[in-house]
Amino acid sequence: MLRSVLSAIPRPALRLPARAYSAAAAIPAPNTQPDVHFNKLFINNEWQDAVSKKTFASINPSTGEVICQVAEADKADVDKAVKAARDAFKLGSPWRRMDASDRGLLLNRLADRIEKDTAYLAELETLDNGKPYAVAYSVDVPMVVKCLRYYAGWADKWEGKTIPVDGDFFCYTRHEPVGVCGQIIPWNFPLLMQAWKLGPALATGNTVVMKVAEQTPLSALYVAHLIKEVGFPAGVVNIVPGFGPTAGAAIASHMDVDKVAFTGSTEVGQLIQQAAGSSNLKKTTLELGGKSPNIILSDADMEEAVEMSHFALFFNQGQCCCAGSRTFVQEDIYNEFVERSVERTKKRVVGDPFNLSTEQGPQVDEEQFQKILGYISTGKREGAKLMCGGGVAADRGYFIQPTVFGDVKDNMTIAREEIFGPVMQILKFKTLEEVIERANDTKYGLAAAVFTKDIDKAHYVSGALRAGTVWINCYDVFGAQAPFGGYKASGVGRELGEYGLDSYTEVKTVTIKVPQKNS
Ligand code: NAD
Ligand code: MN
Repeated sequence: MLRSVLSAIPRPALRLPARAYSAAAAIPAPNTQPDVHFNKLFINNEWQDAVSKKTFASINPSTGEVICQVAEADKADVDKAVKAARDAFKLGSPWRRMDASDRGLLLNRLADRIEKDTAYLAELETLDNGKPYAVAYSVDVPMVVKCLRYYAGWADKWEGKTIPVDGDFFCYTRHEPVGVCGQIIPWNFPLLMQAWKLGPALATGNTVVMKVAEQTPLSALYVAHLIKEVGFPAGVVNIVPGFGPTAGAAIASHMDVDKVAFTGSTEVGQLIQQAAGSSNLKKTTLELGGKSPNIILSDADMEEAVEMSHFALFFNQGQCCCAGSRTFVQEDIYNEFVERSVERTKKRVVGDPFNLSTEQGPQVDEEQFQKILGYISTGKREGAKLMCGGGVAADRGYFIQPTVFGDVKDNMTIAREEIFGPVMQILKFKTLEEVIERANDTKYGLAAAVFTKDIDKAHYVSGALRAGTVWINCYDVFGAQAPFGGYKASGVGRELGEYGLDSYTEVKTVTIKVPQKNS
């Protein structure tokens, strides 16, 4: 993610060292009022109303106004979608008989179509989610395209093994699809989370029932239209917008769903795993929350550490599961680091996300907005030092001032709970041993980072941190090739990379007797 951010966003948008901006791609002026073409349920390659005929409003978080109504799926619609996905998965169906290389071709065609509509998809994403258009255009959509192309390549390369078992037998494994996969995704990266889920599921030949987040259904529905256009057979992908406790819960507890993949809060992840366990023991993968430590040692490059730590927390309005939300700074550089971080944060450009120089748009909805403001009050009440920000940033929409707290202590609520907003916590430490222990003292284990020029310390700290991803002298570097996922309460399983194929695969062991001529 970082590489694309650095190379693609115009300079004023992120104040990073000049050398980072090799080839700033020109970003065309966006249409700030893109038409919405699709607002129904996508089941069996058809656009359908909800059985209940209910709809819900999708809101523009920059204004709080309704963009449009969207069909609201509930259990009855999930049942229809699961039936379509089950039919599409039947033995002998077009999808099951399709050559693996042709599955790859379809994924590549989908990537090409998404790429062609980059501007429109980025406009929808900005309208519905509030993220800066420059980021949606140059980071989110290109990463979607790359993810789909990456998994397209895997479709005919996901090989089993031949195994030297004892005796006169030939033994091999087949990598088979799990079946009907329920996928429940969040609102912080609507298009990208859709691609992370679809890529490995479709490359390995599964069928999908996806529930998109109620805050941000629009871009995923446009992608559904492209899925049909490029020729995926009916029922392979079904998309049901709706709410968690209704449509989401119906997927998690469904008796005919073989696997559920979820990204979102740890609390809901626990509900999903319980529902899977008490229904049909469907396979479960979870990508959940975090409170990721970002450790700045006193020998780090100060300018780079300040900028990267700012990016680590504030990127995407602070709405990242892997946000560097506990910034640990060694005591001899602590004062300077805090001062320079505050200086940087005060310069952060907050406003209309369609404006190309905007760095920070609104939070996704009223609920998140209120929750974050609540955490800011708690931080002040518990004695953290408010260094800048702390309030609402506009008279309408869900904008929050970029906020920095210094002198944060480990037991404060803002140092323990996921805030998911533009609120930075800076903590002081003395020794390596101390910071490792404090960094690991959390129920989470999603990501971590360390900034240092000392390679021995870098390796020592990265080895000691209990987290699924460790960045050294960088942050939020994502690629479809590298796995991502959590230790502890941050999740179960891995997404992306070759590892990401495992959870969409059943391994079948086939053993055949081979009589020996001379025996
Ligand atoms: P959430 O976990 O409620 O929502 C994520 C997805 O799960 C949505 O599609 C939602 O409709 C669905 N869902 C909700 N309840 C469900 C249920 N009972 N059964 C099945 N599906 C259900 O997250 P939220 O309420 O939008 O945000 C709350 C907090 O979660 C945030 O403040 C943040 O801390 C965290 N969060 C994390 C991520 C992430 O990327 N890991 C993304 C979004 C939110
Ligand atoms: Mn919720």
